[in-house]
Amino acid sequence: MENLKVIIIGAGMGGLTSGIALSQAGYEVEIYDRVLDLRPAGAGISLWSNGVKVLNRLGLGREIAAIGGQMNRMEYRTLAGELLNDIDLMPLVEQVGQRPYPVSRTDLQQMLRQRLPVEVQLGHQCIGIEQDDQQVTAMFENGHVATGNVLIAADGIRSICRKYVLDTEIAPSYGGYVNWNGLVPANPDLAPPDTWAIYVGEHKRASLMPIAGDRFYFFFDVPMPKEDAAQGGDIRADLTRFFAGWAPPIQALIQSLDPATTNRVLIHDLGPLHQLVRGRVALLGDAAHATCPDLGQGGCQAVEDALVLSNYLKSTTISVTDALRRYETERVDRTAAVVAKARRRAEQIHGKDPAVTQQWYDQLSQEKPEDVRQAIAKVILGGPLR
Ligand SMILES: Cc1cc2nc3c(=O)[nH]c(=O)nc-3n(C[C@H](O)[C@H](O)[C@H](O)COP(=O)(O)OP(=O)(O)OC[C@H]3O[C@@H](n4cnc5c(N)ncnc54)[C@H](O)[C@@H]3O)c2cc1C
Repeated sequence: MENLKVIIIGAGMGGLTSGIALSQAGYEVEIYDRVLDLRPAGAGISLWSNGVKVLNRLGLGREIAAIGGQMNRMEYRTLAGELLNDIDLMPLVEQVGQRPYPVSRTDLQQMLRQRLPVEVQLGHQCIGIEQDDQQVTAMFENGHVATGNVLIAADGIRSICRKYVLDTEIAPSYGGYVNWNGLVPANPDLAPPDTWAIYVGEHKRASLMPIAGDRFYFFFDVPMPKEDAAQGGDIRADLTRFFAGWAPPIQALIQSLDPATTNRVLIHDLGPLHQLVRGRVALLGDAAHATCPDLGQGGCQAVEDALVLSNYLKSTTISVTDALRRYETERVDRTAAVVAKARRRAEQIHGKDPAVTQQWYDQLSQEKPEDVRQAIAKVILGGPLR
C-alpha cells in the first residue's frame, strides 16, 4: 500500500524501530511520547541475533555492531564461584548468521533516534483513540489530535491503547522477583571481557555481560513476594545482604556499582494475548506481549513486530485492516510462545518450585554446551529473518 500516514504512540525501542521501518517504506510517520525527556528504562539489554538481524535489515548493522559488546562465551557458576558450564557462543553465531549484541540502552536509544527521520513529539500523552472506515484519530491530554491511516500502539506494558484494542483491561502479572541492573567499568576481577558470566544459587542470580566502551551491563535477581518487593531499601545494603557469601567477583561488583544509576525493577509479564489488532490499530512490543526478561527477548520481539508490520503494509494491497490482520496472524503465536517460555524460565530460575530449580542447578553442570546453544538457536530462528 502507498501513501499512508502512520501515527505511533510510544517512543521506546518498539516505537522508534517502527518509525524507522515505516519511514523507509515511504510512509509519513508521526511519533508521540508522553514524557518530556526520553530516557530509557534500564541500563542495558541483550539484543539476541534475531533482533540484531532486524536492525541489519533496516540498514543499522554498522551502528549496532559499534555499540555492541563482544560476547563470545557464556559461563554458569555456583554462588561460590565454581564453574558449572562454559559455553562457546561462536558455533551459535555460525548457525544463526549473526552475533548477539549486549548494549547500553542509552546508546541504543540514541542510535535509533538518530536514524528516525522525524522528531519524537514529546509531552504528548495519548488518552483516547477513534476510527472509522477511512482513518484513525489519537487524542492527547494536551488537546492535540493526530489523524492517520494506521495507528501503532507501542505504549509499553501499561498501555492505555490496549484497552481500546481488546475492549477489556488486562493487567500485567508479577513475575515473582526483583531485578537490579546497571553499568560498571569492565574489570577482569569481575569477569573476562568477552564472557557473559552468570552466578546462580538460593534461587537468585547475578550476571555480567560485556558492552561497548569497556563496560559491563550487570544485573541481580532476587525472588520475593510482591508485598516485600514493593519496598526497596538502600541498594548497596540490600544487595550486600541478599548476596552475602557469594563469590568475590559478586562482592566486588556490589562495591563497584553506583547506587545512583542502578535501577530496581519489579518484573512483570503480560498475556499471552490472542488479539493484537482492532481495525486500523495494532499493538506492538510490550503493549502486546511483555515478557519476563529471562530469555532476553522482550525488546527483540518488539523489533521483530516492527519489521513484520511494515512488511505487510508495504507488500499487500487489499486494505490497511487486511495488512494488520496478517501482522496479527504472523505475530500472535510467535510472541505467545516467547512469553510462555520466558515465564517458565523465570519460574525455573527463581524457585517457584524449589525442586525444579534444584534439578536445574544439578543439570547445569552436566548439560552439553551444544544443547544450550540449540535451545538459544531455536528461539532466535523462530523469528521472521532466518
Ligand atoms: C530488567 C529487564 C531486562 C530486560 N532485558 C532484555 C534483554 O536482555 N533483551 C531484550 O530483548 N529485552 C529485554 N527486556 C525487555 C525490553 O526492555 C522491552 O521488551 C522493551 O523495552 C519494550 O519496548 P517497547 O517500545 O515495547 O516499550 P517501552 O520501552 O516501555 O516504551 C513505551 C513508551 O511509550 C510511552 N508511553 C506510554 N504510555 C503512553 C501514552 N499514553 N501516550 C504516549 N506515550 C506513552 C512511554 O513513555 C515509553 O517511552 C528487559 C526488560 C526488563 C524489565
